[in-house]
Amino acid sequence: MRNSPHIHILGAGIAGLSAAYYAQKYFPRLKISVYEAAAVAGGRCRSFFSDKLGVELDNATHVILGANRRIRKFWTADEFINKPSFYNVSTGKTDHHSLKHLEHLLVSVYNTKGADVPLSSLLKLGQELFPFMPPQLKICYSRQNLNQLTIEPLLNSLQAVEINYGYRLLEVKTRENKICQLCFNRGHVEVAPHDIVISALDAKNFGRIFGGEEFEYRRIINIYYRTSQKLSLPGGVDMLGVEGGLSHWLFALPGLLAVTISNAQGIKLPREELARTVWQEVSKIRGVSGAFLPPWEVLDYPRATIAQDKANNQKRPHTAQGAFDNLYLAGDWSMKNWPCSLEAAFCSGLRAVKTALK
Ligand SMILES: Cc1cc2nc3c(=O)[nH]c(=O)nc-3n(C[C@H](O)[C@H](O)[C@H](O)COP(=O)(O)OP(=O)(O)OC[C@H]3O[C@@H](n4cnc5c(N)ncnc54)[C@H](O)[C@@H]3O)c2cc1C
Repeated sequence: MRNSPHIHILGAGIAGLSAAYYAQKYFPRLKISVYEAAAVAGGRCRSFFSDKLGVELDNATHVILGANRRIRKFWTADEFINKPSFYNVSTGKTDHHSLKHLEHLLVSVYNTKGADVPLSSLLKLGQELFPFMPPQLKICYSRQNLNQLTIEPLLNSLQAVEINYGYRLLEVKTRENKICQLCFNRGHVEVAPHDIVISALDAKNFGRIFGGEEFEYRRIINIYYRTSQKLSLPGGVDMLGVEGGLSHWLFALPGLLAVTISNAQGIKLPREELARTVWQEVSKIRGVSGAFLPPWEVLDYPRATIAQDKANNQKRPHTAQGAFDNLYLAGDWSMKNWPCSLEAAFCSGLRAVKTALK
């Protein structure tokens, strides 16, 4: 439609795809374009083919809460765990008392030491989880990979959206406090005065292009082991929290054992040594010999999320309105007080669209 705003969305992670989804839903007559630097969508939430293991892997095992109802729309095959099991490495005992493992759960949710998470963030989480009923508190994970589970359903819903892969934004040009040009590695896109730009970039790339606050980041390491069959974990569970070890969570998947280590700044071991040490820990937990190290892949994200402590939470924006009149913000980091999660990313897309089109 001539003279209708064109919505330009930067980044095709969950936040960018969500912005495109809601823009298409509420404004089906507007032109919507997404620009993504990578060759595929999904950002920090996607699957890829591992040449090393010869299978599709997720960039990290993702779990969500039952309370995360917005992303659950696109989480197409839930398997729920009501009470996670925890294994204590020093005592060798397993239990189901989540409250005893609050610190462990907080580190998993915030990727930040529990004691450093500000009260305002804890209150927000409490509000999301309320009423504290089993469906809200359930942990959802899936044996399907992230592409099948979430990215493909989301992409399939974007029939009217143009997605441009391989478009890395380098800088923007502005006039009268509005973005008037997006400068990509592949050329320039003009932005008319009534057009809308939604940034769904991660915090680091947003800062590089638009300036603003510098965040600290927290690391997450995932290790996958290729196994001939699904491995059994104590108590016959498929997801096990580990207390007092290097590993934080173990996931028994078909043909794979996945290990997640959150808030992993302190880990200095080279990859192979880390894979071997964690495998020995996993084998000890399973009560078997760890002498044979199966094929492994270590996926290390030094900037998995921003640190969600008080200082960094304060730097997060209060609203989706960006520094330019036609710039709106999305991305997990942009949702003050929210855990940096799929739910936050998805909700940030909705908030950006609503703010832009008010
Ligand atoms: C290891 C790991 C484990 C996690 N585990 C969980 C979990 O269990 N549960 C959970 O809910 N969340 C988890 N998360 C967090 C979750 O993945 C993120 O919160 C979410 O994916 C963020 O989405 P986003 O769209 O905000 O950002 P991103 O996914 O980072 O998307 C940003 C997009 O912008 C693109 N981009 C960057 N720069 C440019 C540029 N200059 N031009 C164009 N495009 C650009 C990127 O390629 C990317 O596609 C985990 C994250 C990691 C890394």
